[in-house]
Amino acid sequence: MELPSEINKKKKSYDPKRNLIGREIVLTSEFEGGNGIGFKEYGDNIFSFMPIRDPGEKYSGQAYYFKFAVENKLIRSDAIKHITVTAIADYDDLWKGWAPGLNINLWKYSGSSLTHLDPKNVKTTPKTMGINLILQPKEKIFISNMLSIPYSEMVNILEDIQLMYPTFLKLVEVGRSPMDNIIYSIRVNPDENHWKDTTKSKIIISGTPQSNEFGDYATILLLQKFLKMGAEYWDSLLIFRIEFIFFQNPDGIVLGKNMVNSKGENIFFGFKDSKENISVENTIVWDYLEKDPPTLYLEWHNFFQDRKTIRPYLYPIELFNSRKNLQKIYKKMATTLKSYCNGAKEQIKIDQPYFSDTLAYKLQKKFNTLSFQFKTHNSMEIKDIETIIWDVFNKLIKILSRNKDKLL
Ligand SMILES: [Zn+2]
Repeated sequence: MELPSEINKKKKSYDPKRNLIGREIVLTSEFEGGNGIGFKEYGDNIFSFMPIRDPGEKYSGQAYYFKFAVENKLIRSDAIKHITVTAIADYDDLWKGWAPGLNINLWKYSGSSLTHLDPKNVKTTPKTMGINLILQPKEKIFISNMLSIPYSEMVNILEDIQLMYPTFLKLVEVGRSPMDNIIYSIRVNPDENHWKDTTKSKIIISGTPQSNEFGDYATILLLQKFLKMGAEYWDSLLIFRIEFIFFQNPDGIVLGKNMVNSKGENIFFGFKDSKENISVENTIVWDYLEKDPPTLYLEWHNFFQDRKTIRPYLYPIELFNSRKNLQKIYKKMATTLKSYCNGAKEQIKIDQPYFSDTLAYKLQKKFNTLSFQFKTHNSMEIKDIETIIWDVFNKLIKILSRNKDKLL
């Protein structure tokens, strides 16, 4: 056993690859969700590091994800630091074609606010991204090109929401990841009689398992907006059973990955047919939904690969086989989303590689679930993301409500 005096003597040990502790500036990726390695100082307030590659599939430039913290240690009120931190890509074939589209809409997170860095302060070359920052005395900020809110903080938000609505909402532990992080759901009107009534269509809203997109946070935003609406609105939705699912890939968020979990398995494209090839996280989510499959599944995405702004991902109506009514409802929903979203869309085809192993595809195929993914864009402010997803949600449930007799 250690004596308290010995514990006090111990200094916090840092991983030198993930920290640069200078006299004035500290750079680190050694925190929950951090991603960055090999921090270097060149003098004249110039620094660099490399994003840690995400060993996901070779589908896109999603490996170029980073999240680091930078701190101005100086205390004097005029000790404002102007620094440049350059992210250097571990460049190879995977990056080709993506470099010109690198996301320059970076997030600046201080623990109390999440805002964009002015894109004018971000300069890219095919291999690098130089980030110019101004740091006030004692200021510490987190910089990321993707989601910047830690998993533990999002869990706190859910727990707080549960405390505020002890009977109207129920926070459910859906399962635990290999690293013991929890996949949650929140049920609205959790009363057993309500949930036993399978004539009420079940609606599942979830974030993408691409853990550092804004999917889970978008789901939180939607739930918060839903709660602000009040009793009259909630009552109008009593014909449905509504449930929000959070953190389909919790270890990915904690480890600062996007496509993969702690074992390097791709969770987004991981809903394989054969049980041996399916990860713990995918199994948990699938088993949970299989017991009582949803009528509508809506999954939020948010990314940066291109200049397009917002768009739906539509799944093939052929998956409904002979269910003409469902095909019609799906088409109506798809048309609404398409006309709403500057015409851009992604139409997934039957057996399309990667996408036929998503949860949306599998739910539509096995349970005739009306399944949609919806992508906002990283250049949007949080309040605009909230506006769009709220609109999408309401448009879809309105169509569902109008057609509820045709569902059975
Ligand atoms: Zn996505």
